[in-house]
Amino acid sequence: MVTEIKERLERLRAELPASVKLVAVSKFHPEAVLRAAYDAGQRIFGESRVQEMLSKYEALPKDIEWHFIGHLQPNKVKYIAPFVKLIHAVDSLKLLAEIDKQARRCDRVIPCLLQLHVAAEETKFGFTPEECRAMLSGGEWRSLQHVAIVGIMCMATNTENQERVRRDFHEAYMFYKEAKRDYFSYSPGFNERSWGMSHDYPLAVQEGANIVRIGTKIFGPREY
Ligand SMILES: *Cc1c(COP(=O)(O)O)cnc(C)c1O
Repeated sequence: MVTEIKERLERLRAELPASVKLVAVSKFHPEAVLRAAYDAGQRIFGESRVQEMLSKYEALPKDIEWHFIGHLQPNKVKYIAPFVKLIHAVDSLKLLAEIDKQARRCDRVIPCLLQLHVAAEETKFGFTPEECRAMLSGGEWRSLQHVAIVGIMCMATNTENQERVRRDFHEAYMFYKEAKRDYFSYSPGFNERSWGMSHDYPLAVQEGANIVRIGTKIFGPREY
């Protein structure tokens, strides 16, 4: 297993442009599996459940960057605020305000991405482009001193239809550019585009991603 993970990571790194950050999505995998990836040089891990990320953080080396990639409930932010490196899926002003509050308690600024809903499925979380524009133009986020909005995250429609997936990523990229122009032109840190998973990351990179979140292709299938 250890050599397999190492080989898969090496293949991915060779394939991805140097400017694209690889988040190894380790949710549902035991610590030993993460340690194998760590020993192969991987330092960025993505988790989607608070308790799981917390116990892995406590057990594993402290130079790991922990990215929270799942849906985050405001009442759970406090558990990860001391150490989380990037929160990918901010989908409400309420959540952003709570992250700000908990980050202030830790004397930190927590980088966050706004999750854009571009997929066809109704079940996926995130702001529609209109909702996201309304939130940004409302301006309340500007008073939050302990969060830094550094980019956009999305998940594409879960379909074999490559054109649909490409269109979803493209929509996210266009929105990223619009937001950068209209709201973040003085924020050099607003640069992150998190899209692409195991089955669609090549398209995501073609459509402007600079962070990909890959689980299955590194660690194999998850056992739920
Ligand atoms: C699980 C998950 C991934 C990784 O999915 P794979 O298909 O295993 O690569 C990426 N992003 C999010 C938000 C996830 O929940």
